[in-house]
Amino acid sequence: MRYGIIADIHSNLEALEAVLSDLSGKVDQIICLGDIIGYGPNPNECCEIFRDKKIPSIAGNHEKGVLGEMSLEWFNPNASEAVRWTKRQLLPENLEYLKGLPLTMEYTEFQLVHGSLINPTEEYLNGIFEAMPTFDLMVKPLLFVGHTHQPLNLNYKEKEIVNPGSVGQSRDGNPMSSYLVFDSEKKEFNLYRVKYDIEKVQQKMMIAGLPQFLIDRLTFGR
Ligand code: ZN
Repeated sequence: MRYGIIADIHSNLEALEAVLSDLSGKVDQIICLGDIIGYGPNPNECCEIFRDKKIPSIAGNHEKGVLGEMSLEWFNPNASEAVRWTKRQLLPENLEYLKGLPLTMEYTEFQLVHGSLINPTEEYLNGIFEAMPTFDLMVKPLLFVGHTHQPLNLNYKEKEIVNPGSVGQSRDGNPMSSYLVFDSEKKEFNLYRVKYDIEKVQQKMMIAGLPQFLIDRLTFGR
């Protein structure tokens, strides 16, 4: 099987469409690691794409924030402002859809979690040290994580933790969207970067009155 692994869409419709079109024909199954919404201007449209295409997804911290299942105090001021804005925009059927997303999922060859197996929606895995307790909890040799918005590959003994980077709000200094293709037969990973219309998204964010910091960071991918 060839899997397209995507994460951290963050209501960025232009980025999501660019990635899905780049993925078309490349994979048998697309899977998402959470944070479909938050930060960007198109939460409903992004949810609807996931519902229409039946793309499986787990929940991220932004889903839990919008659903009131995670305190907004956890988020920094720009992020919590975006969570509150997103909550006002979301249609009841899309809120209902987000409510149904699980915290983790297991496939034959791998597991999925947004943050870490210790704390599924909060902990950031940036390096081998903080990943050790999660390595211990893994029941499959491979775990996909999101949340940091930076592509990463960690190995420990026979186990591997892989982050595909972010579709909608890159933070590794490259403003392009990021996603991963995993070929489970060849045990091969390929990271792809995709251009999308950043200015169009920024214009929509400006009209929506979303925080300037969130608008600016898309230019730099930071
Ligand atoms: Zn995120």
